[in-house]
Amino acid sequence: MNKKGILVVVSGFSGAGKGTVMKELLRKYDNYALSVSVTTRSPRPGEEEGREYFFRTKEEFERLIREDALIEYARYVENYYGTPRSYVEQQLSMGKDVILEIEIQGAMKIKEKIPEALLVFVTPPSVEELRNRLVGRGTETAEVIESRMSRAGEEAEGMESYDYILVNDDLEECVERMHQIILSEHYRMERNAAFVQKIKEESRALKRS
Ligand code: ADP
Ligand code: 5GP
Repeated sequence: MNKKGILVVVSGFSGAGKGTVMKELLRKYDNYALSVSVTTRSPRPGEEEGREYFFRTKEEFERLIREDALIEYARYVENYYGTPRSYVEQQLSMGKDVILEIEIQGAMKIKEKIPEALLVFVTPPSVEELRNRLVGRGTETAEVIESRMSRAGEEAEGMESYDYILVNDDLEECVERMHQIILSEHYRMERNAAFVQKIKEESRALKRS
């Protein structure tokens, strides 16, 4: 069977709980690698360089773009965010399923460049719950929360471009469903073309002429 990892793109409104779900998924299962993005935004309290993000200046970020060191990048609410290429490629070739937690413009770029990527959209059960979570997280000003809510309105329009929708209501249930989706994806016919071919060839010998 296919040994190469799957590139999993996870998007969803800011405050949907993507970070929380991914953290729990990585804690429970060891076949996942989470790509750490580069950003020009400032660290939130508790965030560490190289753990949540690589925090860079705008000039440094633009140099990474010129060097083609990012698989994709996008601007989101006044800042740049991008995915470093080398880590993703290395982990996929080692058989890890690599998770990119990125916004929708970046997700669409990945879909165009890497059609076999799996796209999952995470949403809270309601928009009211989204606001509660953003306010409850307590990491943004009221103004930033409003711009993120407005951005959520735009992003909702693109939900149908994703392969799966994942409702993050009960956290543990959501983590399990995510794991099952990725696991099932490994058994798609088209991801196992070489193995299918081998079995076909072997079984041809069984046919009566
Ligand atoms: P995102 O990464 O999508 O912006 P976070 O993971 O930071 O979102 O979650 C936003 C807030 O919602 C956090 O305070 C987090 O603890 C909370 N949260 C995440 N998942 C759930 C859930 N299933 N039920 C209730 N609260 C949640
Ligand atoms: P935050 O500032 O809340 O950490 O992230 C803001 C948005 O940027 C989120 O939707 C997050 O998924 C997205 N994001 C994080 N890293 C990347 C990246 O490398 N590329 C793109 N396109 N979006 C990213």
